[in-house]
Amino acid sequence: MKKAIFPGSFDPITNGHLDIIKRTSKVFEELIVGVLVNPEKVSLFTVDERVEQIKNVVKNLPNVRVKKFSGLLIELMNKEGAGVILKGLRSISDFEYEFQMASLNNKLDPSKETVFMMTKAKYCYLSSSSVKQVAMLGGCIKGLVPEQIIPDIIRKINSK
Ligand code: ADP
Repeated sequence: MKKAIFPGSFDPITNGHLDIIKRTSKVFEELIVGVLVNPEKVSLFTVDERVEQIKNVVKNLPNVRVKKFSGLLIELMNKEGAGVILKGLRSISDFEYEFQMASLNNKLDPSKETVFMMTKAKYCYLSSSSVKQVAMLGGCIKGLVPEQIIPDIIRKINSK
């Protein structure tokens, strides 16, 4: 299992996501960050904006690629030849949801495995939605997201 996919919304990417990406890029030969196109979810950034942000943030990690996808994750995995779904875990509530997703994906394709990486304690409270909430209320998001995307977030929130 040399190629893994880290799927998510990444709206926007946080330091919690980035920490998982950095740590797992050392474990797998190749890591694909899969940015989900979900028309049912209202997002702050378009999927293309999110892809560009992540590409910029991971540009120094040579074995990390970023791809947008819609539909079944398993289909993207087959297209990319990836055998592992990578997930980050923050809490018991993450566990319940992720256990369900891992079981479902295993049912859809038993050849795929889901691998979990625990968050660092300092990121266990961090989510994309909490970052958006803090930014919308005018709070400081330094240290929560990669430095270079802070102006994008502030600009986008001010334009809404
Ligand atoms: P969010 O929950 O922040 O909206 P996503 O839906 O984009 O994030 O999540 C993509 C993946 O990243 C999921 O596996 C999720 O558990 C993981 N993840 C999100 N935030 C963190 C964090 N702070 N630490 C570790 N993993 C995280």
